[in-house]
Amino acid sequence: MIKTILLKNRPEGKPSLSDFEFVNEESDLNIKEGELLLETTYVSVDPYLRGRMSAAKSYVPSFELNKPIQSGVIAKIIASKNKNFDVGDFVSGMLAWKTKQVSNGDGLLKVDGSKAPLSTYLGVLGMTGLTAYLGLEQIGKPKAGETLVVSGAAGAVGSVVGQIGKILGLTVIGIAGTDEKIEMLKNKFGFDAGINYNTSKDMTADIAKAAPNGVDIYFDNVGGPISDAVLFNINRFARMIICGAISVYNNKELPKSISVQPFLVKNSALMQGFIVSNYADKFPEAMKQLSTWLADGKLTYTETIVNGFDNIPQAFIDLFEGKNKGKMIVKI
Ligand code: NDP
Repeated sequence: MIKTILLKNRPEGKPSLSDFEFVNEESDLNIKEGELLLETTYVSVDPYLRGRMSAAKSYVPSFELNKPIQSGVIAKIIASKNKNFDVGDFVSGMLAWKTKQVSNGDGLLKVDGSKAPLSTYLGVLGMTGLTAYLGLEQIGKPKAGETLVVSGAAGAVGSVVGQIGKILGLTVIGIAGTDEKIEMLKNKFGFDAGINYNTSKDMTADIAKAAPNGVDIYFDNVGGPISDAVLFNINRFARMIICGAISVYNNKELPKSISVQPFLVKNSALMQGFIVSNYADKFPEAMKQLSTWLADGKLTYTETIVNGFDNIPQAFIDLFEGKNKGKMIVKI
């Protein structure tokens, strides 16, 4: 039997289980010349999928209603009529939320489970690791001795950003939603300090206390009031890397934020958004660097692994409740 998850409704505000529909098919999948049969092993759930569930125009097309949702997937090849792929190979690619599917191989990348655990190709050695490395390097232009603040710091992107900051000799301050996450940032990932935005009474003051020399680089995963508080602490020539804005993804109305322009002018500061695919030409070099740091033990990672295909929608919804530490992945 093949199970598929379709987008049933465009979520209004926070996504709910009723926005997804499960379909079971009894049919066998046959492959033609040039095709592969894939069995899903790991599914990545990511905050950006929320944007694709809405009808609003963005950098990637919206998901269609009553069609399978897609995300980063690791799959095993269980039948092949394509000379580039053998049965037993594992691949990563943008694939449908299906237990099995047919592909012609386009866009699939072979991954080697003997070099690193397969799930890492969705996280530290996958899209989120590349986002962390390339965003920080290309826009942040970090220099040893500077101060880096990271929001969403205990998540997939943020936990890698902070560690790279430490490798490059920065003072690193992470912002996350629980005391347990703050402990993890300091003890496991080597951050210098952490701020729990859920218990802080005054984020602007707490950032000032944690960053007495001011903030030179801000890696922004969350937007909203947390990022407003960082603005009050930026230094001259600060760089603000706008990676994501999870705190406003479920908003039904336009968020009310402070005006950034006076902060940018006064500090000659840079604020730049980016999409990791902007730097696709740098993926091989970035992968090489991340793999080397990982092999040398300079970089580590954490994953929240949820078991079972049926739990994919809930794992996605849980991202907005901060239920994950590091990369949220569903194991099939
Ligand atoms: P995470 O692993 O960081 O998971 C999401 C985390 O966001 C949660 O664990 C939670 O942690 C935090 N969060 C949820 N709601 C809020 C809120 N209202 N306010 C503050 N924090 C919140 O996800 P990723 O690392 O995959 O993604 C991080 C960001 O980067 C997202 O905004 C994503 O869209 C973006 N992104 C952008 C890319 C690009 O190319 N520009 C590529 C990949 C990701 P906590 O407990 O701390 O609240």
